[in-house]
Amino acid sequence: MLIKDDIQDIQPYLIDEANYRGNCEKVYIVENKQEVATVLKAANTANTPITICGNHTSLTGSSVPLSGWVLSTERLNKIIEINVEGQYAIVEPAVTLGELQNALKSYGLFFPPDPTETSCFIGGMVGTNASGARSFKYGSTRDFIQEIEIVLADGSIININRESRIKDSLFELKVPQKRTIAFNIPSAYKLPQVKNTVSYYIKDNMSVIDLFIGAEGTLGVITLLKVKVLPVPYNVISLVVFFEDVSESFLFLDKIRKQSKESFTQKKENDVEARLIEFFDQKSLKLLSSKIPDIPSSSKAAFWIEQECENESNYTALISKWEEFLHICSIPLESIWFGADERDRAKIVDMRHLLPMLVNDQVRNNGMKKMGTDIAVPNSEFEAYYNWAVGLVEEKGINYVAFGHFGNSHLHLNMLPYNSEQMVICQNIYASLCAEAVKLGGTFSAEHGVGKVKRDYLKLLLGDDNYKFIEKVKLQFDPQAVLGRETLFY
Ligand SMILES: Cc1cc2nc3c(=O)[nH]c(=O)nc-3n(C[C@H](O)[C@H](O)[C@H](O)COP(=O)(O)OP(=O)(O)OC[C@H]3O[C@@H](n4cnc5c(N)ncnc54)[C@H](O)[C@@H]3O)c2cc1C
Repeated sequence: MLIKDDIQDIQPYLIDEANYRGNCEKVYIVENKQEVATVLKAANTANTPITICGNHTSLTGSSVPLSGWVLSTERLNKIIEINVEGQYAIVEPAVTLGELQNALKSYGLFFPPDPTETSCFIGGMVGTNASGARSFKYGSTRDFIQEIEIVLADGSIININRESRIKDSLFELKVPQKRTIAFNIPSAYKLPQVKNTVSYYIKDNMSVIDLFIGAEGTLGVITLLKVKVLPVPYNVISLVVFFEDVSESFLFLDKIRKQSKESFTQKKENDVEARLIEFFDQKSLKLLSSKIPDIPSSSKAAFWIEQECENESNYTALISKWEEFLHICSIPLESIWFGADERDRAKIVDMRHLLPMLVNDQVRNNGMKKMGTDIAVPNSEFEAYYNWAVGLVEEKGINYVAFGHFGNSHLHLNMLPYNSEQMVICQNIYASLCAEAVKLGGTFSAEHGVGKVKRDYLKLLLGDDNYKFIEKVKLQFDPQAVLGRETLFY
């Protein structure tokens, strides 16, 4: 185990991608689960807060310590097994998403969750229940985690798979030393029915493993994971549709969503069925055009869509279906970029990846913290919500960039304040945007988590009683609240 306590050496552990900054005394870089257990026991004995970190790409301060120690998983970075027949991989938590995808590719497999940032660790993805563009078809990281090994705050090591389920609203988990962690799930504890990663995932009939996915490093350190993987599709249709009118782009969103749902539920093989529906507003396109000059300058909005194809005849049939669909939507073929081959498709993926990076650069250049929403609302409310949110930001004279996973009615509205006065205005807008989303039955965190920056909204969403309930759950696992202190809780 490596221990860092030099002020220069620990700097990289004190910041995340949203420019959230913190402080700590020491960083423990562990090399196996026994060392994890030793460090956690020591933190408990000393009653010292300890923050688990992956690759610091989260955007909520959840991997940034405010005091105490950091437990870095960075050396737990081996791919243990790729099983083609069983369609799973066993990995240590610090394998990056990019490394896993590369390794799987040579076996004709892939890991569906795609949170854009390929340098994130699989352990970090589980910590935040990350999702990204392909969640429209595949859901979030949760849907692909089959088994975990986790070290709890007292140093005990347990393995959990999907088989143990909650019955009659009673959560029960046997942990070492003949201890059982048990609690009843209050009937009032309900999470939003939209794409979301807030609070502890607790509901009747769930699998016990789900509690630990999206727990943001507050319940234990995951040291090994078995993840479900899928065969790489034969081919992917990828296109970008540009619009000169924002309301027309929303009409298109409605149509593609309905068509995709219909194809999925009716198991239609040769029909339009998106696996992702990604939106770029005019400002996103303008920002991107500094690097990609052929973006049409008159565009006010764009959608990037991908669909998987199973074989050559399916591909050919789908191309015709897409032409038909675009014709029905009155979209001329000239206003489309079509990713004809792997290189073209990769360029479109890069364009989407570049966007949040350009936004994050601008945030850093402005010397401010990121003020970006991670809001999802019910589909029926989405267009009105979007127009209202953008209108509010414009009315206050704040520069912004809006994009997101619109297939899931999920909006990243990034405000770009450049001084502290503007920052205060943005904070107020942000609070209004989150409150309105919650009022509509949506969430303030669809995929990034709550971390340290959104705790107020967690209280708002849950209400006092449910907030107390999750505090009690946390304390059953971690009685001294040493793990991830000030993440989720105060
Ligand atoms: C440019 C950019 C684009 C992004 N786009 C998306 C997107 O589209 N969708 C999306 O979902 N996210 C997105 N993110 C956010 C980010 O990539 C994810 O939150 C990521 O999953 C975090 O991984 P990490 O390894 O960096 O974890 P960290 O940031 O280090 O940690 C994240 C959380 O997980 C916990 N944790 C880490 N490892 C473990 C472990 N082994 N055991 C228990 N808890 C652990 C930490 O305590 C912390 O609470 C984006 C980030 C960037 C920078």
